[in-house]
Amino acid sequence: MNIIFDFDGTLIDSKERLFKLFSFLVSESELNFEDYWTLKKQGIGHAEILEKQFNYQSNAIQEFQIKWHQEIEKNYWINYDTPIFGVEDKLISLFENHQLHLVTARQSYEKAVKQIKALRWDRYFKSILVTKQEIEKSQLILENIEIKKEDWILGDTGKDILTGKTLQINTAAVLTGFLSEEKLKSYNPDIIIDSVANFMI
Ligand SMILES: [Mg+2]
Repeated sequence: MNIIFDFDGTLIDSKERLFKLFSFLVSESELNFEDYWTLKKQGIGHAEILEKQFNYQSNAIQEFQIKWHQEIEKNYWINYDTPIFGVEDKLISLFENHQLHLVTARQSYEKAVKQIKALRWDRYFKSILVTKQEIEKSQLILENIEIKKEDWILGDTGKDILTGKTLQINTAAVLTGFLSEEKLKSYNPDIIIDSVANFMI
């Protein structure tokens, strides 16, 4: 079967990268890593954090969003990413009997592939699909993978679960990423697991 993985928050831990960039762009912020992620995991976005905690007006929020977009995939920040414990072993064992794919909403295909190659994970994936934020994940998957209803998608956000629902495949939410268990439950995934490392089929 096909098993489709999201990248950030699912195979790699990007929480430090996002926190560091937020702290860099909002120099007045005294939120620590835990404060920041407690807010974000409840589904509270940057706009709301900036408005409520730092009194940002809409033009300052917009400026933040533009800078965020420009910075977030730069090597300096990407270097904060780390592989999630146990993921590689799970990829190795699933790779034996299944077709593995990676789908990410990153902006840059080249940079995503470079990062995956640096981890030496490219050998496990039959396809690496990058939306470049120009196309929905579900559309990109449909155009590249022959989906069957027994297939799985694993991801850390509501968007990943909704992608699986759109494709009418099985959905697994993981708790290694950007949303809390309570928040993920509201998207009604088929299963919720601590990590990709706990995925059993
Ligand atoms: Mg993700």
